[in-house]
Amino acid sequence: MSELLTHREYRDLAGGLILPVQAYINGQFVPSVSGNTMPTVNPATGAEIAQISACNEDDVNLAVANAKATFEAGEWANMHPTERKKIMLKFADLIRQNSRELAVMESLESGKPIRECELTDLPETIHCIEWHAEAADKIYDQLSPSGNDAVGLIVREPLGVVACVLPWNFPLMMVAWKLGPALASGNCVVIKPAEQTSMTTLRLAQLALAAGIPAGVMNVLPGYGHEAGQALGLHHDVQVVSFTGSTEIGRKFLEFSAQSNLKKIVLECGGKNPSVVLADADKLDRAAEQIVYAALWNMGQNCTANSRVIVHKDVKAELTSKILQAMEEWRTGDPLDPANALGAIVSREQYEQICQYISKGKAEGATVLAGGEPIVIGDGLFVAPTLFDDVTPDMTIAREEIFGPVFAIITADSDEQALAIANDTCYGLQASLYTSSGVNAQRYARKLQAGTVSVNCYAEGDISTPFGGYKLSGFGGRDNSLQAHDQYTETKTIWLDISE
Ligand code: NAD
Repeated sequence: MSELLTHREYRDLAGGLILPVQAYINGQFVPSVSGNTMPTVNPATGAEIAQISACNEDDVNLAVANAKATFEAGEWANMHPTERKKIMLKFADLIRQNSRELAVMESLESGKPIRECELTDLPETIHCIEWHAEAADKIYDQLSPSGNDAVGLIVREPLGVVACVLPWNFPLMMVAWKLGPALASGNCVVIKPAEQTSMTTLRLAQLALAAGIPAGVMNVLPGYGHEAGQALGLHHDVQVVSFTGSTEIGRKFLEFSAQSNLKKIVLECGGKNPSVVLADADKLDRAAEQIVYAALWNMGQNCTANSRVIVHKDVKAELTSKILQAMEEWRTGDPLDPANALGAIVSREQYEQICQYISKGKAEGATVLAGGEPIVIGDGLFVAPTLFDDVTPDMTIAREEIFGPVFAIITADSDEQALAIANDTCYGLQASLYTSSGVNAQRYARKLQAGTVSVNCYAEGDISTPFGGYKLSGFGGRDNSLQAHDQYTETKTIWLDISE
């Protein structure tokens, strides 16, 4: 389903949604033990959408105990992988059947443009679940080369209770990235969505049960990070936390692990990603279009947002004018209007942070070429796509993750200098490289310190390629590809003496 509806039709749909608002434990919606709730707000209007259960340590204890019991009962963990696959494919199919409703729910809570939800987030979510489902009965264990007197079996086993602590920028896609491999390898999962965006994850849990995933296998605890998130990090029966979010909170999970059961921690954290344009770059129209997409996609609230355009001085003037031209395609407004490419900023906190970065850019001497101001639409949180020029590598907007529709042009005197500036960051998640030379493509791609380097385009790879970061952008494993399954499995050696 990808035919877009009209603005009015989306608004009508939004008005008629049944909203999931309670925690989901053991196959049932339940209020939080404390009875506490928290508001979820539509950032495009400022209106409260609903009150959602706010879980804390008590709910975590309940959900983890249930998940552990479900895991030990073995219905899911010991199910034949082909059966797990079939059920997960059914789950993906139910998401497809409900994708319009999910797309609208996602847009309402996050401020994402509905066209993105419909054309990217939902299809990618479904594809991700299907891809990992298909892998469930195609990953082989290994036999060691141990000679004729012994058989060394190297087998993978599910870990047990997996916790996923998630950000608000791609609520459905981030769930799918974790849930796909965690379920395919037989674990039970407790998910804490970001407090701003709980509803689509809750709805997914309901669909998982309807597809035949046993109660207790997928649980969702909405709540605040310092309550539900921290309690999951410290719980002794949680075997891994797969976390996507800021580097600051990622560090906390390493501490929680050290303070509790040395659970595995996998971190997908922030980025300050460059688009590097070498002197020999050609096809500058295409480069400009990709650079703008890389900076503005999801209002720049993207860990791989290319917020630094590091361009060789010889091509800078032409590229800059093409970037400005390409930005005109990116219309901002009501996320439920399918004509809009940019919607609202997720929360007031995030909005204020972006505005502060814009002010700092101006104060530190950068030149605003486009935008530079909020856009006033009712009580919504909108920021004009903003391009800065005359940015030097030491400026705040060149060093810190802004997580908004703001990007900066930094001019380099040589290709080598462009590379050095690109790598001069504590992060290393993604980099885009533009060059007409095959040799430079290889040479510079290898020298860029990032988990993913895309050449002559902006890309994160696809579901079949590992995704994760160097330096402060990541730790402990990769999402996507078969490598993602390593996050959720333990390796066991079984040694059989068969000597005569
Ligand atoms: P965040 O770190 O504030 O929150 C992420 C999650 O951690 C949320 O569920 C939150 O409730 C929880 N949390 C917050 N405080 C906590 C605490 N004290 N203890 C336990 N849990 C806590 O990040 P965010 O603002 O939601 O997301 C934006 C960040 O996520 C950016 O830095 C972005 O780069 C990063 N991100 C990374 C990737 C990636 O794959 N590398 C993808 C998306 C977003």
